[in-house]
Amino acid sequence: MTSIALRQDGKTLKRIEIDETHAASLRKERALEIWKRLVRYVQADLNHKQELQNFRALVVECMAWNGLVGVPEDVVSESVGLFRTLVAGGKRATIKNTDPFKLCSDGITPEQAAIKYQKDFLPGLKWLARNPELTEEARAQLGKEAAQFLWEHGDENISLGLVIHQDTAQSFYSMKVERYGTVASPICRFILDRLDYYAKAESKDDIIPLKVCVYCRKIMFFERNSRKTCSDSCRVAMHRKGL
Ligand SMILES: [Zn+2]
Repeated sequence: MTSIALRQDGKTLKRIEIDETHAASLRKERALEIWKRLVRYVQADLNHKQELQNFRALVVECMAWNGLVGVPEDVVSESVGLFRTLVAGGKRATIKNTDPFKLCSDGITPEQAAIKYQKDFLPGLKWLARNPELTEEARAQLGKEAAQFLWEHGDENISLGLVIHQDTAQSFYSMKVERYGTVASPICRFILDRLDYYAKAESKDDIIPLKVCVYCRKIMFFERNSRKTCSDSCRVAMHRKGL
């Protein structure tokens, strides 16, 4: 049994208990949702309004995963997906009654952030997509470029607080996000969290659900590892060419 406490502005909002099987499937579902948004963001034309909305939702979902999210009071009750992500993230979660971007110290607008960080996330996703056409050395080189950025924004620039647990059945202490350094921080922290989980997990198959489409070479996400193309049109085009 996993027990998650949701807090809002210092008060406990609710305590949720879920069994391990349910927790695992929820984690998988919400993580995939975030990966989907991230893949879309790095390859998006940000002149389109709906792409900026996708970026906003990406940041907010990652915040929920990390356990510190801003949700204005009037939209708390509508945020079903966010609550699911808060639970899926498995941290002691805090919901602040504020605009989510106010939790980031860099003080730039979501639009500015979307443009500023897009090029920084691309090498990271290319690295995680493990393009089989690149040599191991070339992939490691991408990793060097990417990991620096992920670490700086997802760890060094984040303020953490120490929480000692009264109930020690599951753990003695945990670290809680107090503040995000930049708008990139919540996303980088989500990625680092998944990479740590990948390192510890016995079955690693679907944990980093990214690959390169065999037809158009774009980065894609997958629900099932057997999937090779990013879309129906790529699947059909590949079939026509007899590949
Ligand atoms: Zn494709």
